Formats: sequence, C-alpha cells, structure tokens
Amino acid sequence: MKVFVTGGAGYIGSVCVEELIQAGHSVVVWDNLSEGHRAAVHPQAVFLQGDLLDRDLLGRVMGEQRPEAVIHFAGKALVPESMRDPSLYYRVNVSGGVNLLDAMVAAGCRKIIFSSTCATYGVPEKVPMNEETPQKPINPYGHSKLMFEQILAWYSQIHGIVPTCLRYFNASGASSERGEHHRVETHLIPNVLLAALGQRKEVEIFGTGHATPDGTCIRDYIHVRDLASAHILALDREKAGAFNVGTGQGHSVRGVIEMARKVTQKEICISEKPARAGDPPALVAAADKLQKELGWKPKHSGLEEILASAWDWHRTHPRGYSD
Ligand code: UDP
Repeated sequence: MKVFVTGGAGYIGSVCVEELIQAGHSVVVWDNLSEGHRAAVHPQAVFLQGDLLDRDLLGRVMGEQRPEAVIHFAGKALVPESMRDPSLYYRVNVSGGVNLLDAMVAAGCRKIIFSSTCATYGVPEKVPMNEETPQKPINPYGHSKLMFEQILAWYSQIHGIVPTCLRYFNASGASSERGEHHRVETHLIPNVLLAALGQRKEVEIFGTGHATPDGTCIRDYIHVRDLASAHILALDREKAGAFNVGTGQGHSVRGVIEMARKVTQKEICISEKPARAGDPPALVAAADKLQKELGWKPKHSGLEEILASAWDWHRTHPRGYSD
C-alpha cells in the first residue's frame, strides 16, 4: 500500500515508517522537522518537508502523491506545554488536522489512522480504562485530540473517510536504529536514561502525594514497536473504530526509576518536585478490544525490555540524532 505518514520523522512516526517499509509498503513522509529529525527517516521512504498548516502545499502534494492511506502522527503532544500555550495545540492538532482531511477528501483518499491519546479520557473514574470510558480531558492537549476524533466522525459520515483512532498510552523504548530524541526532553524514560548517562544531574519526580500506592503517577508504558504494529494492522480495516493501545499494566514513576537502575547498573539521583499541572494520577489501558478486533499482541512491552531497548539506543546515540 502507498502510505502518507505525517510526522514520520518523529519518535513514533519514524519507527512506524521503519516497520511499514519492512512490511513491504511504500511510504511518503510529510514532516516540518520542528520535532522530528531528517536522519530518523528510513532511507527507502520519500521525504517531503512541509507543514500541516500550509494548506495549499499539503493539498497539492496529496493530489500528486495519491496515497491509499494516511497515518497521522504529526502534532503537538506535551501536556505541560499545552497548559501554557493552548493556542498552539488547537492550531496544529485541530486546524492542521482539518487541512489534512480536506486534502485527503480532494485526493480521494479515505483511510486515516490517527494518533490519539489516553489524555482524551482525563481523570478516569476507574483504571484500567476501556474505550467506553467517558472522554473528559483535563488539558488542552487531550482536548485538541478529542476534538479531532470528533471531527473525524463527521468527515466519516459526510465524506466517507474511514478513521481508526489509536489512543496511545505512554510510548517508550526504541528499535535498534531509532529512538526518542526531543530537542527539549520532558518525558520520563529518556530523562531517567539521560541521568544514567550523566547528561542530567538527577531525575525530578513530579508529585509524590498522588492517590497511588507510592504517591507517584502511574502510566502504562507501551513499546514503540508494539505501537507501530497496531498501525500496520489498522491499515487493513474498512470501518471506523477507536482503540486503546496499552498493555494493561501500570508502572509508577518510582517503579520506572528502580527498573532503570537495574537495567543500566548506574546510579540515578532523584529530587522530589510538586506535581505537574494537568497530570492525571493513573492511566492504564484495558486494551482487549485491539487484541480481539485486530489480532494485536504486545511483544516487547515488558518494562525491562522497554528500558533495555531505550538504554541501548541512548548509549549508542548519546547525542540522539545530532551527530
Ligand atoms: N515525570 C516525572 N519526571 C520527569 C518526566 C515525567 O516525574 O522528568 C512524570 C510525569 O509527571 C508523568 C509521568 O512521569 O506522571 C510520565 O510523564 P511523561 O511526560 O513521560 O508522559 P505523559 O504521561 O505526560 O504523556
């Protein structure tokens, strides 16, 4: 299949492109390189640098490329940033997404797999949470992703678009060649490993008084390769759907740091800080729907394997893609 991948130079997108190419698909990457890295793009993919907000160019490129499916990773994805600058989130995630859909409609492309998030649920009444959990986001990031899910439903009804919304839990880990490198790193696992590498003095733990057994936030960490495989399975779907992509297993911030000490055999210093605004205490997926309907199975998402793969990548790429 010819697949148009927005954000294919980013962390999750670049690993998915690698797996798409290994599975025999042909790939066009569209990325503005604001977060992504040119070097992360698989050499067999066609790379086009462009911005979702450039509506005319996007329309033209989609008309020329005529893909059979779109996988839409590009977007802003940091909770704390969205609490400071909501406008950015609505512009890129909502307006940029609408530009993409309009370009698809004009080019006759119907299938889209969208990177949604468990942040659309807000603070769930119970965990693990399934896809029926009410979506009540508590930050503009989650709200912008929910808005785009809703827009997709209308485009499905009106224009025959076939959307699959994959609600990611916490993407983590690395393939042998591609890993997590953000220009400003805010995520837990890379921060922990940068501390193990001595590039950071310590790991800050945001919030130690949450309503969880050890007081730190619980998240469901899913290996980026398992996340990628969910997209590849979704390419074959012919009807709309929304799926959680997680493991059903939660780990606290302290638990992640403990496992990182074991995997790296390094000292990792911590400092306890106030909770971050907009952070729900616990997010854990009930992901049986994805397993039942798409035959998906996480193969690499044990916490130890996640940390070991990420550690391998960080050790061998101490400057990320900057070399
Ligand atoms: N976190 C932390 N220290 C860090 C980065 C993150 O304690 O340096 C916490 C954060 O508050 C959250 C969890 O780790 O509870 C996962 O955060 P991350 O930013 O990796 O992903 P999110 O769940 O926000 O998408």
